[in-house]
Amino acid sequence: MTAVAPSTRARVRRPASSPACPACPNRRRPGQYLCPSCWDALPAAARRALNERGDQAAALARLRQLHQQLTDGAPPHGIEITR
Ligand SMILES: [Zn+2]
Repeated sequence: MTAVAPSTRARVRRPASSPACPACPNRRRPGQYLCPSCWDALPAAARRALNERGDQAAALARLRQLHQQLTDGAPPHGIEITR
């Protein structure tokens, strides 16, 4: 694939205001980490960990783990969140 500008990378039609799911070309809802189908595909333990937002710094660290694993090519069902 040739390099293209980030704004034209996704060919999926979507409103500019809807953020992209980091795991697939779908849209996610603002305030959610993933689109509904990817979120449903996460292991229950990972979903539980990501839903805990009491500690802001820890929640951010868990979100970073999620994004790092997706960047590394892990499928949603293979995500592991360690605390
Ligand atoms: Zn998705």
